Amino acid sequence: MNLRRFFRTILPFTFLLMTSYNLSNLPKCSIEKRTNISVSKNLSSRYVSGKGREFIDCVNRTYLSEFQRISRFIPVRDRSAIGIDYSILGGDTTGNYSLKTGRMALDTNKVLYINGMINCHVVSHEIAHALLDRFSREIGNGEWPSSSEEWISEALAIYIGEGRRERAFPQNWPRDSEELTCTNPRHYGVHLVTRLLDKYGGRALSSIIKNPPTRDQILIPSSYQNRIRNILRNSQRGRR
Ligand SMILES: [Zn+2]
Repeated sequence: MNLRRFFRTILPFTFLLMTSYNLSNLPKCSIEKRTNISVSKNLSSRYVSGKGREFIDCVNRTYLSEFQRISRFIPVRDRSAIGIDYSILGGDTTGNYSLKTGRMALDTNKVLYINGMINCHVVSHEIAHALLDRFSREIGNGEWPSSSEEWISEALAIYIGEGRRERAFPQNWPRDSEELTCTNPRHYGVHLVTRLLDKYGGRALSSIIKNPPTRDQILIPSSYQNRIRNILRNSQRGRR
């Protein structure tokens, strides 16, 4: 057997084995189209042609690999399905997670093609939102986030879901309440949590979720970071 033929035969099997191994460790994820053509399918489904097929491959791959990373931060006890609706969302929205329905919505066009490349960051970002909400409910904190917690929620989804960190203080950080109102948290908030999550990992999560920053603390990130550090130190002392 020549080398090329060997790989052509062996590789698909390797992939299949890895996939089924990973799947057994993951919560189930159901994917639905918003139009009523296809109904709930397990992530492992081989189904849907054309772009739909490619989309599900993209979600599959992201879900498998990103969930491993995300689950290092979020201890998910409830392994029931995370629902995904795929459709064309319109406007600037590429993906979102709805607290009301507990489902993610992804725009097939934008998730699949950004500068001609498949972009799976959106998938893992929304998975992070879904898991953070679930985690918050599990620790008795109710659905999460409320509208005033948008800054911190985006920060966590970017750090945990997309694996993006930011240690340097952004130069255009909002200086007052008015600027804060006009600032899109997607671009800045990650600075608030990077140092905390780098140092304390998942241990910082419940403290951050239960103690979101006030507007004043967003304006001076170090004051928020110190507040969370104190909470963590006190809880450690309490355990000794
Ligand atoms: Zn988000």
